[in-house]
Amino acid sequence: MGKVTFKKELCKGCGLCVDACPKKILAVSKTESNNKGYFIAECLDAEKCIGCAFCATMCPDCVITVEK
Ligand code: SF4
Ligand code: SF4
Repeated sequence: MGKVTFKKELCKGCGLCVDACPKKILAVSKTESNNKGYFIAECLDAEKCIGCAFCATMCPDCVITVEK
């Protein structure tokens, strides 16, 4: 079980974390954007997160923090 949080103002919506997640629970939002105008990554099903941190490792902008 893990918990992911996003520093949403740093996200540029590139989707690399989405592809990296083995549980397929991340997505780039179609509605929520940050102050820079990028649609942001979000977790769709927090219950399924296994805390592997693949998403955080993949993110080029250090947006994601994973707690176990
Ligand atoms: S920690 Fe792992 S399971 Fe959880 S959102 Fe990131 S890549 Fe997916
Ligand atoms: S990899 Fe980082 S910058 Fe790219 S969508 Fe995911 S959280 Fe945002």
